[in-house]
Amino acid sequence: MAGERRFVVQRHRATRLHYDFRLEIDGVLVSWAVPKGPTLDPKVRRAAFHVEDHPMDYIDFEGVIPAGGYGGGDVIVWDAGTWEPYKDPDPGAAVAAGELHARLHGEKLRGTFVLVKTKQGKDDWLLLHKRDEHAVDGWDPEEHPRSVLSGRTSEEVLADPDRLWDPHTGARPLKASRDELEALDRAGDGDTWHVYGRDLSINHPDKVVRKQAPATRRELLRYATVMTPTVLPYMRAVTTDPAALVEAADWRVPVTNMAVIDLGGGNPWADQVVLAQLYRTAFEHLRIRAGIKVGPAIELWVPATGDPTGWIRSLARSMAAVMPELTHHGAPAGPTVLAPYSPIAAPGAPVSTPIGWDELDDPDLSPDNFTVLTVPERRDARGDLFAVVLEPPRDLPALDQV
Ligand code: MN
Repeated sequence: MAGERRFVVQRHRATRLHYDFRLEIDGVLVSWAVPKGPTLDPKVRRAAFHVEDHPMDYIDFEGVIPAGGYGGGDVIVWDAGTWEPYKDPDPGAAVAAGELHARLHGEKLRGTFVLVKTKQGKDDWLLLHKRDEHAVDGWDPEEHPRSVLSGRTSEEVLADPDRLWDPHTGARPLKASRDELEALDRAGDGDTWHVYGRDLSINHPDKVVRKQAPATRRELLRYATVMTPTVLPYMRAVTTDPAALVEAADWRVPVTNMAVIDLGGGNPWADQVVLAQLYRTAFEHLRIRAGIKVGPAIELWVPATGDPTGWIRSLARSMAAVMPELTHHGAPAGPTVLAPYSPIAAPGAPVSTPIGWDELDDPDLSPDNFTVLTVPERRDARGDLFAVVLEPPRDLPALDQV
């Protein structure tokens, strides 16, 4: 319909979670950040902070905003639709005057909302829903967590984002296109290859760079290109530039907000597997959700607040009591570790690969099975088995129950 106005509410996990409530007014998205989110509950008034206008292009942005920049975090299109001013013939003037009445026709938000400026600070407003036929007592936005664009939650978008917000150029795709991958196949020595918005120079693409395995530089570049969208969330402390991942030989991250337990330490593979099974039992008792990856050694990752060193050492002592025949029972890894899916500089082109905990019971489990030639297909089939590690860090539980 001509003259129809659009609105969007984006759930944005930045330094703090908030909902960005944006109304199309005079060709831009006039915006308020609402920490607790909008509600249909007419008894509730939400604090809303008038923030800078956004361009209309932003209305369907869902993806990741690089860390370090303004608003770094993940964004989903939590609700969208059309709206019309109610009572106010000129909504721009109504905003300037500090009170706007809006009828929303969204998928979640419906009915009459009022935005009203308070007397406290210059950007402090309140957002409330009138008691009308769309009002619902006790309605909580957090109970309606999925994107109306993709059906995904914030966690799911962060784990596999399609788009990256570039403050200079706007949204750009985070998946390499088929054209980019085909151009890599055709690229010869000295050619320039364009991927993820950058020009990379290609040197000796068919040179075997992993001995004893059919892995050429071209194959490693292809691997890095197709895996980058999955890996980027784990690399946020290091880079948010996908092209930087494609160029890097391996992917290393500092250990922060994470207990990373290395089960290698000279243990033969079979002993590492038995030890990991023991940790699995301990984590079940402790109700800990952890990621496990293999290559080179078995590594366990637990999102954790504070310094986990003492906790890991106590846990290892408990393991030593059960398996005294081993000399190594797990130790803190760091200060940097290989990120999940990182290529490993070793013969066979292995990859540091997340596995499911149930795979520990597979007698054929071996780090040799996971290479740059096999892992992308595995990721496509099984998803990101390490996503639990992206959950917020928590206090580690006391160990007296192990
Ligand atoms: Mn925001």
